[in-house]
Amino acid sequence: MAIRKVRTVGDDVLRKKCKEVVEITNRELTLIEDMVDTMYEENGVGLAAPQVGILKRIFVIDIGDENGVMIFINPEILETSGTQCDDEGCLSIPGETKQVERPNYVKVRAFNEKGEQFVLEGEELLARAILHENDHLDGILYIDHVK
Ligand code: ZN
Repeated sequence: MAIRKVRTVGDDVLRKKCKEVVEITNRELTLIEDMVDTMYEENGVGLAAPQVGILKRIFVIDIGDENGVMIFINPEILETSGTQCDDEGCLSIPGETKQVERPNYVKVRAFNEKGEQFVLEGEELLARAILHENDHLDGILYIDHVK
């Protein structure tokens, strides 16, 4: 296990589009393990690969519910609906939160670390976390949504 350095706003890597993962090798598995360790170390509810400087379509989430930690590889947002507005923060924008409007419901398809495809539906905080982390894979930060 290893804690990786979290890149902060101003770092170009946070503004780049990530590449699809073509194969889950030991390299990806180590990255995922380190991302989970780093997320817990920093008390985050999610972390995306570009936040540790890696331009791959991977993020991890643990909102403290019964799901525990969830790994998303090559995620695809299939559906969103409703709206919610709440304070949002980001490990890459330390010490700041802002009100962000997001859909209240999301349906996402992704692969887990074993290469198994799954579909997950989330509401409220889970939906917010999924959409926030998914944005990171396209170089979008939550502050871009603030009006
Ligand atoms: Zn973030």
